[in-house]
Amino acid sequence: MTQPGSSSKAAGSAISSWIEQPDPRQLLSEQDPEIYAAIESERHRQTYGIELIASENYVFPEVLAAAGSVLTNKYAEGYPGRRYYGGCQYVDVAEKIGLERALELFGAEHANVQPHSGAQANAAVYMALLEPGDTVLAMKLDHGGHLSHGFHLNSSGHYYNFVHYGLNPETEQLDYEVMRQTALDQRPKLLLVGASAYPRHFDFRLLREIADEAGCLLMMDMAHVAGLVAAKLHPDPVPYCDVVTTTTHKTLRGPRGGLILCRQKHARSIDRAVFPGIQGGPLMHIIAAKAVGFKLAQGESFRMYQQQILDNAQALSDTLQAQGLRSVSGGTDNHLLLVDLNPLNNEETTGKLLETALDNASIHCNKNMIPFDKRKAMVTSGIRLGTPAATTRGMQQVEFEQIGRWIASIAHDPKDTALQESVRDEVLEMVQAFPVPA
Ligand SMILES: *Cc1c(COP(=O)(O)O)cnc(C)c1O
Repeated sequence: MTQPGSSSKAAGSAISSWIEQPDPRQLLSEQDPEIYAAIESERHRQTYGIELIASENYVFPEVLAAAGSVLTNKYAEGYPGRRYYGGCQYVDVAEKIGLERALELFGAEHANVQPHSGAQANAAVYMALLEPGDTVLAMKLDHGGHLSHGFHLNSSGHYYNFVHYGLNPETEQLDYEVMRQTALDQRPKLLLVGASAYPRHFDFRLLREIADEAGCLLMMDMAHVAGLVAAKLHPDPVPYCDVVTTTTHKTLRGPRGGLILCRQKHARSIDRAVFPGIQGGPLMHIIAAKAVGFKLAQGESFRMYQQQILDNAQALSDTLQAQGLRSVSGGTDNHLLLVDLNPLNNEETTGKLLETALDNASIHCNKNMIPFDKRKAMVTSGIRLGTPAATTRGMQQVEFEQIGRWIASIAHDPKDTALQESVRDEVLEMVQAFPVPA
């Protein structure tokens, strides 16, 4: 390195010596071969299998570059222009751009891009809008809700009084009349919608009506469907909800992180709840990566990508139903489906067994309870399948029809390991044509 100095000449030679440094990946492989090997094995796994976990995706390479940048070195407690540290002029630029783009993309009045994750975003909203012990009405976990929606071991369930609504047993969809009655009986302070395993749309106009009637706030956790919302291929919660939270890494294809959108009226309390309420220093590299993700989520090619996610989910659902499986609620409006294994007429095919059998074939998904499941959460009668990640690689309906046939054949005989091996060979051949964007 050159001597410290502030002249542009010194800065220039400092930059050239940085450029001459060995490739960071090579450095890592030499200095920490164990972690390097874990990363490379994971890269291999992500490349040579078919990812159907509905909450996962492959980020844009530009997002990965920003997330792996020197912004990780910077402390920036506070908000742009109001930091508790010096030297924040450049990270301020990144955060301001992130905020502007979030508002533009989702049409909200106020945004906070600092939550480290979706669960953190939700925790901050609860802190901002509720007192400990307040009642929140949210979706049952075993009908598709999320841990941060009142699970007893989560801080949400610890500090607040969560009451849950479920799905209608006939339609396996939200029952707005039951929800309305429960809201009128329970008088919650907050009505929370959004889910991790719900394949249908939400009726936000009706939800707003119910919230107004019950005199409560309305919040949507759109973690799963944010990309579809950005592309205007899912009903837009922003005009109807007091607060909308999301992750940035699922359908949206940004870095792993959280985002809060809210009405101006709640801006101050939301910002204070995120920092200093539940977090310290923001992850500025991740905030920059979110900004990049928001930019790439604008425009026609992202909209076409999201449309393909939907088309692929239809193709997968139709194929599976044609092969004797059943999509919960009869189909899907979004990027995911919940597959009911009960119609298989094969007592031994549980979600747990099928998840493992499919993993052996390099098809990755997760076991998931279906509504009114008779099996426990660690066993389950269903699997959850999502199309975002494989769609990012360029797979379309033909591929998803093939994937559906593979899944069905394995589901019909989950102990046939020879079948799993032969499917794995075919999977390997298919994925070669669809490189992971890097
Ligand atoms: C994924 C998800 C979250 C949590 O996101 P993390 O980033 O894992 O904390 C919150 N809510 C819903 C509905 C989700 O699906």
